[in-house]
Amino acid sequence: MLHTGGTLGMTGGRPSALRPSPFARTLRERVPELAELADVRLEVFSNLDSSEIQPEAWLQLARVLARRLPEFDGAVVTHGTDTLAYTASALSFLLPGLDRPVVLTGSQRPLKEVRTDARLNLIDAVTSALRGPPEVTVCFDSKLYRGNRTLKAAVADYDAFESPNFPLLGTLGVRANFAKGLPPRPLKLVDRLDPRVFLLKVYPGLDPALPMALLGRMRGLVVEAYGAGNVPVDEAGGRSLRPVFHEARRRGVAVVMVSQAPRNAVDLSLYEGGSAALSEGAIGGGDMTSVAAVTKLMHVLGVHRSLAAIRRAMERAVAGERSSETPSSASDAGEDAGIDSRTHPGGPNRTPRRARRPLPDRTPRSS
Ligand code: ASP
Repeated sequence: MLHTGGTLGMTGGRPSALRPSPFARTLRERVPELAELADVRLEVFSNLDSSEIQPEAWLQLARVLARRLPEFDGAVVTHGTDTLAYTASALSFLLPGLDRPVVLTGSQRPLKEVRTDARLNLIDAVTSALRGPPEVTVCFDSKLYRGNRTLKAAVADYDAFESPNFPLLGTLGVRANFAKGLPPRPLKLVDRLDPRVFLLKVYPGLDPALPMALLGRMRGLVVEAYGAGNVPVDEAGGRSLRPVFHEARRRGVAVVMVSQAPRNAVDLSLYEGGSAALSEGAIGGGDMTSVAAVTKLMHVLGVHRSLAAIRRAMERAVAGERSSETPSSASDAGEDAGIDSRTHPGGPNRTPRRARRPLPDRTPRSS
């Protein structure tokens, strides 16, 4: 068990702020039954509020896991919930080969509190580290998720995570049931990341001059577009993002499009905005979450230089982070062995079609 921090190990509370506190003793005192489940060795990696986690910590964490995993049946990483989905995603890319589980967990209330959810989350996480699939997962509120499919979805509910485009990998009720998940692969660490990635959420009124001014400081841009991957491109409106895509391409900045709608996949060929991005070289992010897209792009930029190689890597599922059936993704059938792909949303592969244009304005005009 690697402890990184988070509410789970914190003390204090209103009126003062929650803050990290010594963890090893709290764990022994509050969850002694963990020793009945497994021979748990605890290492305190850090003791941070997870809002302080940075890509350098992901690299370190991945290196420690790669070094120590062969001694154990599985690993549990305790982590604050705020950036837990980011760390889980990053680890899944930094450790593309895993033959045993790496399970992240945290809690909404500190372990020291009477109504804490930390005890059960820890017990479930250790159970999942012994019996769950050999991949990076998130265990929370009696559910096991594929790590790179998760989003933090609630601030104050015990049911704090969701996986909008991928089914659960386990449920821990009266009985604990697990899916097979990704096939086991020999342990492999690729500890490369380039954090020069910017995440842009599109909204009505966005001034294109803002992302334009930042392009020089990034190697990768993830655009959280509307719906199917749509953005404003009407030059008459004065806020077209087309020049941003054009300039990004000129500067060699890799652009990946994902959707603000958490469920289903982008289809850039569907509307004019997405088509414009596509024709300027943007990469369709399929049904990846923006969390997965950002962390994957950091990893891919750390490994590849050419835009063609970056595109190939982004369009392929490397750790089950995107469904194979989504438009403009390479075929990767077999990646998700053990999981019923018919349950995946995302739809069948569709052939590119002409973009939908706005209907002509038929409103009667008064003269
Ligand atoms: N601020 C905390 C953290 O992410 C929240 C939590 O752990 O639930 O470290």
